[in-house]
Amino acid sequence: MSKVHSFRLNDRDEERFEEIYVKTGRQYGEVIRAMLRDPKLVQLIRDAEQRGYERGMNTWFGKAYVPCKVCGKNFTVDFIKDARHREVLLRAFAGWTHTDCLNSQK
Ligand SMILES: [Zn+2]
Repeated sequence: MSKVHSFRLNDRDEERFEEIYVKTGRQYGEVIRAMLRDPKLVQLIRDAEQRGYERGMNTWFGKAYVPCKVCGKNFTVDFIKDARHREVLLRAFAGWTHTDCLNSQK
């Protein structure tokens, strides 16, 4: 399904848009659709998504490092930033070991 969009352009952008429109001989819609598929724009969107993801992770999530009871190597758990959540997680994983480490002890 396609939708109709309308928007305003300032004089500079309008000039640029007309230039592209006239040079390529394409319809307005085609020019817009081509712009939206531009790899630079796609990358710009992906970068913005990544920044948003990182900001969200840094703001809302913390990491807890839980050591394996046998080898001592850490297991990382993401948790919602809240001291109580961290405490509950650490208690829940207090006796945690890697399966291989546990089996090697038998
Ligand atoms: Zn281990």
